[in-house]
Amino acid sequence: MSYPANRLPDHLRESDRAAGFEVTEAFERFSQMNDIFTRAFWDERVKSEDTEAFFASYRMEAAPRRGDGFTQKDFALRNASWLISDLISERSCEEGVREGFQGAIRADTPVAPEQAELQSPEEEAAQIKAIAKLFGADLLGITHRDDRWHYSDRPDVRVMEPIANDLPEGLSHVIVMGHAMDAELVETYPSALAGAATGREYSHEAAIVMQLAAYIRNLGYNAVASMNDTALVIPYAIKAGLGEYGRNQMVLTPEFGPRVRFSKIFTDMPLAVDGPRDLGMKAYCEECDVCAVACPVKALPFGPPDFGQEVAAGSQSTLRGVKKWSSNAEACFSYWAKLKSDCAICMRVCPFTQPRTDSFGKRWYRLATGAYGARGRAVARKWAARRAKPRLRPQEWWARLRG
Ligand code: SF4
Ligand code: SF4
Repeated sequence: MSYPANRLPDHLRESDRAAGFEVTEAFERFSQMNDIFTRAFWDERVKSEDTEAFFASYRMEAAPRRGDGFTQKDFALRNASWLISDLISERSCEEGVREGFQGAIRADTPVAPEQAELQSPEEEAAQIKAIAKLFGADLLGITHRDDRWHYSDRPDVRVMEPIANDLPEGLSHVIVMGHAMDAELVETYPSALAGAATGREYSHEAAIVMQLAAYIRNLGYNAVASMNDTALVIPYAIKAGLGEYGRNQMVLTPEFGPRVRFSKIFTDMPLAVDGPRDLGMKAYCEECDVCAVACPVKALPFGPPDFGQEVAAGSQSTLRGVKKWSSNAEACFSYWAKLKSDCAICMRVCPFTQPRTDSFGKRWYRLATGAYGARGRAVARKWAARRAKPRLRPQEWWARLRG
C-alpha cells in the first residue's frame, strides 16, 4: 500500500474528511527543489534573464521604469518593507540555509531546562493564541503535525542541491498564524508598490513567529519557527480552521479573504487543536471564475478541482495525488519575472478580499457563504460585480499619503 493508505493515523483521516481533502494512492511528498522559486535557480527551463532580474530587483539592481507603480519610490518602499525578513533569511545562507524560506528559522534562545506548570491543553491553547495576537498575529489556529505536507527535501542554497529537511523529534503540534496584508496596497496590484504589502507581512511574520517560538522555548518546550520553509502551510491553515482553499491557490479566510499570509510553529507543547471548518467560501468558489478570468497569463483553472490536469499537467511544481485547484506555476512566475515584482491580481479581484465595512458588503457575504443556499450564492455572484472596485492607481495611493 502507498503512503496515505497505510500510514495515516485515524485523527488525520478524520480531519481529512472534515476538510474535504481527497488524497490518493498517487500522493507524493513535495520536494522543495520543485518549488517554482527554487527551480528558478537550477532549472534551465525556468531560469531566464527575466528571473535573474526579478531577484536582483529586490536589491535595487534593476532600473526602475516609468510606468505608474514601478518608479524608484515604488521599488524603494517594496524593498524596504522586506528588510527585516531579508536580515533573517540571509544570516545563514553561507551555511546553506535561507531561514524562513529554504530551511526553518534557527532558534536564537535555548529551551529552558525546567518546564513551566501548565493548565489544561484548552487553556494553554487559548493563552498561546492571545500571546500571538499580542505580538501582532491576526489569525490563529492549532492543528496536529502531518508529515505529508512536509517537503521531502530542501535545497542547500549554496549549491542548490537537495538535502534532508528534518525537524527535531517530538514536535507534534503546529500553531498556524495569519498575517493580514494592507488592503489599499493590495488594491494596486500589479505594481512594485503592491509588493510592499507582501514584504511588510514577511517582515512582520518573521518577528512574530520568532517571538512566539522564543516564548514557548522559555516555558521549557521546543518550538521551531517557520515561514515558507519546511512544510506547505496551506493544508495546515485549512486543518487549523483558518479558511478554505480557493481557485486562486490561496486560503480564503472569513476575516480577510485571501489577503493574508501564513506562518507556523512546530512544537511539543501540549495544546488543544482546532478543526477544519465549512465556511461556505469554497462552495462559492466552485461557481466563480473571477480570478481565472483576470489572470493575464491564464495560469488558473476554470473547471472543478482536479489532480492538476487542467492547467498544471506535467508540471513538476504541482503537488501529486491531492484533488484541488492547481495553477500553471511556470506561466504565473514568468509573469512575475517580466514585471520584476510579485503579481497578486488574483488576490485583488477576489470578492472576498475587499473589506466588508458597509451593510451591503455584510449582506453580500451572508449570501455568498450560503445563508440562503445556492440561490443566495447566485445573487451574490451578480452583486459581486457591483461591489468590485477598479485597481487603485499607484499614483493615487501616493497622493493619499498627503491626506
Ligand atoms: S475570485 Fe472567485 S473563484 Fe477566485 S478565489 Fe475568489 S471566490 Fe474563488
Ligand atoms: S499571481 Fe498573477 S499571474 Fe499568477 S495566477 Fe495570480 S493573477 Fe495569474
